[in-house]
Amino acid sequence: MYIAANLETIRQRIAAACARAGRDPASVTLLAVTKGQAPASVRAAADLGITIFGENKIQEAKIKIGQCPGRLRWHFIGHLQSNKCRDAVHFFEMIESVDSLALAQEIDKCAAKGAKTMPVLLEVNIAGESTKYGFKPDELLARFEAINALRKLEIHGLMTIAPYTPEPEKVRPIFRQLRELKEQCDKILGVPLPHLSMGMSGDFEIAIEEGATLVRIGTALFGERPRAARAATRESGNAR
Ligand SMILES: *Cc1c(COP(=O)(O)O)cnc(C)c1O
Repeated sequence: MYIAANLETIRQRIAAACARAGRDPASVTLLAVTKGQAPASVRAAADLGITIFGENKIQEAKIKIGQCPGRLRWHFIGHLQSNKCRDAVHFFEMIESVDSLALAQEIDKCAAKGAKTMPVLLEVNIAGESTKYGFKPDELLARFEAINALRKLEIHGLMTIAPYTPEPEKVRPIFRQLRELKEQCDKILGVPLPHLSMGMSGDFEIAIEEGATLVRIGTALFGERPRAARAATRESGNAR
């Protein structure tokens, strides 16, 4: 099965990147990005031991999650509209893509109604790309305490999507800046945030060398997404 072979290669590459950085491979979690993939692929990956899955569209995710029973853990990784917050809070274990104070407030409200606490990551647009969502770094620091004060929302760390480049070494400064920004947030909090979600199929090894704890991998695991899904991804602003 090609997913098994791809996974083995990815695990070896994660281990090698950890060795280069002097990190324990257990400190890096592989999140399988299943947007555009059929439930059968999700099940195949789950059977191989992957436990965390990422989706970037609420509509697609609701259907797929229903078709994938079992103890799977789902992270939302796309741009979230406020009218979809209720579903996001209900279906997902973590929302990795909180990109504004208004969205954080809406998630907090929905979590309160659902009587749960919602773990989130704050998405940062480090490169300042106009096609991507996310806080600007200084804006994140300015809003951090207001977001942290929301009672039903729990900040677990930061997330970024690096600009696409065929030479991943070029985006190393992006990952480094996200790590440094997390260190500033850690100072504000007085305790370290556990997560840095950064690195995708084309750049995850560099992200790990710079401290990633969650790598979000789709194509390298499942192969190219079907065309419709690639177009949908571009529309969502997370163009890769
Ligand atoms: C699609 C997507 C990924 C995975 O991208 P690949 O290059 O296929 O690994 C990771 N993160 C986000 C937010 C995405 O939208």
